[in-house]
Amino acid sequence: MSFPRGRGRISMQGGRAIIVARCPLCGEEHHYDKGEASGEEVEAIRRRGYTEEGLPCQKDLPGNFWRVVITSARQGSRPDATRRARDTKAR
Ligand SMILES: [Zn+2]
Repeated sequence: MSFPRGRGRISMQGGRAIIVARCPLCGEEHHYDKGEASGEEVEAIRRRGYTEEGLPCQKDLPGNFWRVVITSARQGSRPDATRRARDTKAR
C-alpha cells in the first residue's frame, strides 16, 4: 500500500507532540496530535523518519490518506540526532 508523501516536522506544543505538515493532496498545512511530547508514538515516528500509518487529509477530501516524511528539523536539544544524520549521509 502506498500513500502520497509530504514533508513535515514534529512540533512540541504544550506537552503534546504535533506533526505539522503540508498536505500534498490539498496543499494546506495540517496538524496531527501524536500524543505526549515524550510518548512512544512520536518517538517511534522520530526514529523511523516518517509516519507508518496514513494520515487523513483534514480538508474536505474524505478517504484521502498520505504519509508524512519528517524533515530533519534543527531541534538543538538532541545532539545524538545530528550524529545519526551524519552517519546516514556517510553511508
Ligand atoms: Zn489536506
